Amino acid sequence: MKRIIYFLLCLVPVLAFARVQVQDVRVWSAEEKTRLVLDLSAPVQHRVFTLASPHRIVIDLANTRLTQPLPSNSHNSKLLRGLRSANKSTGILRIVLELSHAARAKSFSLKPYKNHSHRLVVDLTRTGKKKSQKNPVQTVTTTHKIKAGSDNKTPTNSAPQRVKREKNQPKSTTIVAAARDKPRDIVIAIDAGHGGEDPGAIGPQGTQEKQVVLAIAQKLARLLEREPGMRPVMIRTGDYYVGLRERINEARQHKADLFISIHADAFTHPKARGSSVYILSEKGASSEAARYLAQRENESEFIGGVNLNEKGDLLARVLLDLSQTSTHEASLEIADTLLAGLKNVGQVHSQHVQHAGFAVLKSPDIPSVLIETAFISNPHEERQLRSQHHQQQLANAMINGIRYYFYSNPLPDTFLAQRRHIINRGDTLSGVAQHYDVSLNQLRLANDLKGDRIQVGDILLIP
Ligand SMILES: [Zn+2]
Repeated sequence: MKRIIYFLLCLVPVLAFARVQVQDVRVWSAEEKTRLVLDLSAPVQHRVFTLASPHRIVIDLANTRLTQPLPSNSHNSKLLRGLRSANKSTGILRIVLELSHAARAKSFSLKPYKNHSHRLVVDLTRTGKKKSQKNPVQTVTTTHKIKAGSDNKTPTNSAPQRVKREKNQPKSTTIVAAARDKPRDIVIAIDAGHGGEDPGAIGPQGTQEKQVVLAIAQKLARLLEREPGMRPVMIRTGDYYVGLRERINEARQHKADLFISIHADAFTHPKARGSSVYILSEKGASSEAARYLAQRENESEFIGGVNLNEKGDLLARVLLDLSQTSTHEASLEIADTLLAGLKNVGQVHSQHVQHAGFAVLKSPDIPSVLIETAFISNPHEERQLRSQHHQQQLANAMINGIRYYFYSNPLPDTFLAQRRHIINRGDTLSGVAQHYDVSLNQLRLANDLKGDRIQVGDILLIP
């Protein structure tokens, strides 16, 4: 007995020494997701489980204690109502997350990286509710009635094909146009780099890349919302981190036609300046700067974390998928038009599209480009990046490039493929513009026309 007591006494200081400390708990919240990050003094054994009525998620950490009080507010999370903790006699620290809705939790550990310690990340995703869709699929059947005796005059803002179909119908009948006849929108996935845990690069004045790129992304999204036949999907809408593979998956879920990742990175040399456009290269980087930047971008995985369960078969598909060649060509062409647009805004870092191994560009079937809008490490460019006006100019340049590409390469089932006009004798450019209710400038831009000269038989794309 004596020996046992002696043994236990020896064990106590060992246990006290081995205790893991939770040094901080941080909360990042988005629309449907909330992320908890626990900063730890050492790796920890843990388990996570859910409880219902009321909805709770419990995190048990073995041999752990809290050194900081838990955050008192839930950081505007729509999911997380509160946090509480209890020390169990078994040395387990129990953290209870009180939820407003049912949610599922995924947890994973991160090793120390740069100024980050060991971390345990718990991602909460709301369940039992369909993800909100901005443009729900239209299921309502629309009905157009043509009045008897109507002269069927061409409506000025209708596509020619549509007019033709209506004309062929006998008068005084009802035409039922099913929603599926509607051309689909071109979906542009806009990926504001970094976020949450991962601030991205930081300028000499302290400007964080994650903030300026989100502002530019939001401006681009607003432009795309107003653009006929196009629809933006924001990969991240607030200040939270999304894993690089998750960004790709998100774009794929929305069936994106283009993935555009927006960044503003730092370089070792403060004088480095200008914007660059990158596409994926599996073989190697096109320059030292390209290699350096790709390395930095991919570091996000260590800072913001990647759930290892999400890795795997997608990567295998990337290497095997035969569609990669055409995706690569499309990426290069879009990158070219984007670079041309950016040249009008200011300095470009390189006259050509750059190649590097950015993980976020590895979609096998979605053309993907990454824009380094500027070097945040350059004091002049840092100031520009903070300016609303400059952010807007960058967004304008991007939408011009996107527009130019998709008008030149209209996808078959989209709105853009439907609006074309074949020049007849007597047509003028301004007459055509008026007929389709578009501005002369939009018409010139969509067709890459400098002046007003058109020829009989020319096919004009109507924006
Ligand atoms: Zn970046």
